[in-house]
Amino acid sequence: MAKIAANLRAVRERVDRAAGRSGRDHSAVELLVVTKTWPPEVIAEVLEAGHELLGENKLQEAWGKIPELPASARWHFIGHLQRNKARKALGLFEAIHSVDSLRLARHLDRVAGELGKRPRIYLQVNAAEEESKSGFAVGELREALPELLSLEKVELAGLMSIPPATEDPEVGRSSFRKLRELRDDLEEEFEVSLPGLSMGMSQDFEVAIEEGATIVRVGSSIFGPRGVAGSTDS
Ligand SMILES: *Cc1c(COP(=O)(O)O)cnc(C)c1O
Repeated sequence: MAKIAANLRAVRERVDRAAGRSGRDHSAVELLVVTKTWPPEVIAEVLEAGHELLGENKLQEAWGKIPELPASARWHFIGHLQRNKARKALGLFEAIHSVDSLRLARHLDRVAGELGKRPRIYLQVNAAEEESKSGFAVGELREALPELLSLEKVELAGLMSIPPATEDPEVGRSSFRKLRELRDDLEEEFEVSLPGLSMGMSQDFEVAIEEGATIVRVGSSIFGPRGVAGSTDS
């Protein structure tokens, strides 16, 4: 109990210091605590410590856990979302970090309209065009952006990425910087605001913040290592 609260406090302090180094106020960087694989009684410790912004990456798992936890929790979805699960997802999550195709965005927009919701969405970018990862290739994103910007029910929060896994946080730096530069280019080119950058995990969230992250997704630094079964990302 005390352990999770202490880890949470330590991570929040590291987030705040990194925000300071990047010349930003604490409030400019949100901490999304990634609760995947952890049961409700463990997640409850985070809520009891006063933190309410939580993330899950599998709909099936979230569907079982979220109703067990206080309604004060605010949930973001960070995993691969299938179109036929959009309705379920919008019932549980206020933001989707992992919108990886125009078809999914269109579908979310339609369902959000039907449900009377206004979810925030981040566009997942696969800048390195890694086979194993979903996300828009950069050219694809440019092509899709005019239509994405015309969607009325979803709010385009910004961009998200999952960089190649590595032990060296500095390796992530160039990919974080590229995502920020892409965002800056798109804002200028399309004369829009895409303020959010969802990037950085336990291994590299401080570097991500230094490079402009507005929300970092942190799990194992708070809860400890996940079991092998739960450690896969889509
Ligand atoms: C699991 C996960 C995280 C958190 O990873 P940690 O290394 O435990 O901090 C962040 N983002 C996504 C998309 C994830 O699936």
